[in-house]
Amino acid sequence: MHQAADGGLARVRLPGGVVSPAQLRVLAAASADLGDGNLELTSRGNIQIRALRPGAPKELSDRLYDAGLLPSLTHERVRNILASPLSGLDQHSQYDVQPLVAALDRNLCATPRLAELPGRFLFTLDDGRGDLAAIGADVGVRFTGAQAALLLAGEDTGVRLSPADAPRVMLQAAEAFLDEREAQQSAAWRLGELTDGVLEVLSRLGYSKSAGQSAPQGEAVRAGMHGPELLVATVPLGSLGQEQAAALADAVQLRVTPWRSVVVVGGDVDRLVAAGLVVDEESPWNRMTACAGRPGCGKALADVRRDARRVAAMVPSGRRPVHWSGCERRCGQPAGDFVDVLALTDGYSVDGSAAVTAEQSVMRMR
Ligand code: SF4
Repeated sequence: MHQAADGGLARVRLPGGVVSPAQLRVLAAASADLGDGNLELTSRGNIQIRALRPGAPKELSDRLYDAGLLPSLTHERVRNILASPLSGLDQHSQYDVQPLVAALDRNLCATPRLAELPGRFLFTLDDGRGDLAAIGADVGVRFTGAQAALLLAGEDTGVRLSPADAPRVMLQAAEAFLDEREAQQSAAWRLGELTDGVLEVLSRLGYSKSAGQSAPQGEAVRAGMHGPELLVATVPLGSLGQEQAAALADAVQLRVTPWRSVVVVGGDVDRLVAAGLVVDEESPWNRMTACAGRPGCGKALADVRRDARRVAAMVPSGRRPVHWSGCERRCGQPAGDFVDVLALTDGYSVDGSAAVTAEQSVMRMR
């Protein structure tokens, strides 16, 4: 729980993005009863509920606990685990990492020391397609066949692991980060912030660095059909309304991606589209994200989501993601290059331009 300008803000962590349809119903009902009715998808594949009224957190945590969404009170903040969202579901998956996500999460929560990890410390499990390469996690693995490369601060260390060993070594690397942080008397939140962090952590694990391979970066999963019963639906601006949540909850299996979309197995495509979810690969919604903005954030200079929605239909096609920010912190900005639409006191700048209106900003989004 954090306190935001519009009330309490609760983040519910979903390791590997996995949420069952029943759990999604619980979350949607909790937001309707206790918050603003929406579910926000985050850039770490989690779900947030905003505008919680005073007294709501206790009721919310009871509901989450009963639904299996709050397995550890001590470790909740550190259950930051991303996995390739389509892993095990399509032909591009070299290894199904979901069982490893479950093992990593279980053992993370069972290791008392790891509750000390900073809330920003991130684990990733890439099934070989490279979709998480740009995210630069603190500790990650990337599969080639049934062999996993150990990545630290986004770098391939040259160390290769079997699937059975991967969760254990990843957690040992996280503990080595804590040890090295103490040794350096550092308050670093991320492994890459330590002096020689990668080398020091490897040495604590008993490995030495050898030449890794620079595996090609893959793409974020695209919206659309990926198989007869498999689709990815973009959630415009990552804000899921009640009708949309209900349409998703009729599917067989769901995974929230780090790109404000949801992997849906066995869903009713027509119903999802009718509810406002996007399965068209060419839609401008696939490249638009926005921070909370007004009224949720006290720092915001504009209601960026309202403005982005107003001009969405005019956004030209292009490859660079477009991110709307209510202030210079640029919360939720995409990894890598993006069109930077920043609220100023008198309009929006686009990639550092002078202030223009939201409508005029569209002309500069290339
Ligand atoms: S970018 Fe600024 S306005 Fe937007 S959510 Fe972050 S702090 Fe608030």
